[in-house]
Amino acid sequence: MLRSVEKVFSGAPFHMVGDGFRVSNHFPAVSDLLKRMSPFFLLDYHPPFEYPQTSDERRGVGPHPHRGFETVTLAYEGAVAHHDSAGNGGVIRPGDVQWMTAGSGVLHSEYHEKSFASSGGPLHVVQIWVNLPRKYKMHAPRYQAVLDADIPRVELSGEAGTARVISGALDDAQGPAATFSPARMIDARLKAGKSARFAIERGHNAAVLALEGAVVVDGARASAGESVLLKNDGDELVVAAETDAAVLLLDGAPIEEPLYHYGPFLMNTRDEINQAVEDYQAGKFGRLRD
Ligand code: MN
Repeated sequence: MLRSVEKVFSGAPFHMVGDGFRVSNHFPAVSDLLKRMSPFFLLDYHPPFEYPQTSDERRGVGPHPHRGFETVTLAYEGAVAHHDSAGNGGVIRPGDVQWMTAGSGVLHSEYHEKSFASSGGPLHVVQIWVNLPRKYKMHAPRYQAVLDADIPRVELSGEAGTARVISGALDDAQGPAATFSPARMIDARLKAGKSARFAIERGHNAAVLALEGAVVVDGARASAGESVLLKNDGDELVVAAETDAAVLLLDGAPIEEPLYHYGPFLMNTRDEINQAVEDYQAGKFGRLRD
């Protein structure tokens, strides 16, 4: 049975994260979406936007904490650099994915990579927050640099296009990113006039973000920058490409636990949030070297 569409989102009005990321939030922009896409908690979309050159080596967002979840950053254009208090750092280039488990807590900075900042140019990125089940919320921080070259490609049937499997499985391909609960991320390039079929686990929450072009799902049209939230009513998704298109598919098993959210912390109880704030203020998230 095919999944039907619950809603098409255009995303919330753009806001700046620090001075380097012009994003539109797709969820949980409104509170009734806090758990609707669980295990995915947040999706900030930064569509292609041209930044002028700058001599600022830290155009972006300065040191800030996270606890209780994972941040996943996908770059499509431009280059994002980061470093964190666990000693990890690197550059996310087009096609790469940074899968950072904040777990018990990290401080990190995210900014335009130096040479990209000094030349300026278009930046196109997605950041997704993936919630952690209670038993992993205080897991040691972990960092997975998933390079484009390590992401398997699957040719979609009917010559509909090509999918990259970042996490989870598609056909025989397994995405390289390890997850703590089922959380699949697949992006695909589709050819105009073709349709791609994806099997989706029954009961998984699922959505499709249009990155380029325009697609139709269950009669609903989404063009670049719009996302489609699917009902949990079937086990197959069909995405029809109206034009050449690129999409990001998210689906995962909902985490059926209480959720408390405060700023950069995502925990199960209010007490755990208070503890996170206290630990952060006491310097327990470590130090961030410049
Ligand atoms: Mn962050």
